[in-house]
Amino acid sequence: MIPTRKTRSITIGDLALGGAAPIAIQSMVATPTSDLDATLAQVRLLEEAGAAIIRIAVDSKKDVQALAEIRAETGARLSVDLQENYRLAADVAPLVEKIRYNPGHLHHLEKKLPVADKVAFLVETARTHDCALRIGVNAGSLAPEYEQRFEGDPIEALVQCALEHCAMVDALGFDRYLVSIKDSDPRLVVEANVRFAAVRPDVPLHLGVTEAGMPPDGIIKTRIAFEQLLSRGLGDTLRVSLTVPFQEKGREIEVGSELIADIEAGRMRSVPPNFFDGLNIIACPSCSRVENGRFVELAQEVKRVTRDLAKHNLTIAVMGCRVNGPGETDDADLGLWCGPEKVNLKRGPESLGAFSYDEVLGAMQRALDEIIAARNGDGA
Ligand code: SF4
Repeated sequence: MIPTRKTRSITIGDLALGGAAPIAIQSMVATPTSDLDATLAQVRLLEEAGAAIIRIAVDSKKDVQALAEIRAETGARLSVDLQENYRLAADVAPLVEKIRYNPGHLHHLEKKLPVADKVAFLVETARTHDCALRIGVNAGSLAPEYEQRFEGDPIEALVQCALEHCAMVDALGFDRYLVSIKDSDPRLVVEANVRFAAVRPDVPLHLGVTEAGMPPDGIIKTRIAFEQLLSRGLGDTLRVSLTVPFQEKGREIEVGSELIADIEAGRMRSVPPNFFDGLNIIACPSCSRVENGRFVELAQEVKRVTRDLAKHNLTIAVMGCRVNGPGETDDADLGLWCGPEKVNLKRGPESLGAFSYDEVLGAMQRALDEIIAARNGDGA
């Protein structure tokens, strides 16, 4: 059974969310926003799969124009995903039902303007255009000030960032918002959301395990977090993030529906033994920011060529773009983030260079050999 949630009820277009409303399952398009035919097909695919809300990334004026054309063609509830250019909110708000901003990206543009002023701009834009707002905090792109203030307690850094942004929005008299706190580790997602909800039980929660990766591991990680949170009455909407080809994005909705049905029926799955030991491949679910369609194939290849390393305690992160790729690979033993022509390879925060899509797996394997040899004490 999923207990009744204690959050306040808000609306996203004609959708009630929070409190006693059903848990809404949502997803995000993975095609370039300006590729109108592909993006409209993706919106329709997700709508047919049952997505209650469909998120689209907008990073440029060209994306705004595309979104206007997409809006004209669909009645789906749309959410816009803003990153560094938060000012685009004014252009897209008339076209969507919800705006998502990432507090960790607000410091990029207009560096001298206080973050509270930027939040005020977003809130006033949402209010003017009848939009809901999501404060979307991500571990891989947390604002540096929170990393410094809460050094040594990354979960508290995430929670405090979310709480302080809620306070800013509250101070503006706006309550039509929800919060997400995501990480690629489901155990951190559980702890962060539990801590947040203990302070702000009123704020609706959007659940997600970011960069959960490819099935089946991506589904298992998601289940671990969602089972624990939903069975405690935490979570009003959710997104299952899976690294799958864009034609298969409907799976995110199917998995989300199955998961809710299972938890409702008390069918909890046990975590496979030693699931958190050994090789961990994290991969972003891809979105319209992917600049080379080979990203998903690359993530699958990384999984294939490392299958004999299952017992090694290593994390490899594979990210689709330059927006979140550089930051979200910092904590991995090896990170790969994709550009249009080249894949950037990193060892922790250190760059190992940029390689063509054909060469990068070889470079990655050499780097892996070095890491394993160094751990075994037989050379660098
Ligand atoms: S890393 Fe880039 S491509 Fe991947 S989901 Fe995040 S923003 Fe999209």
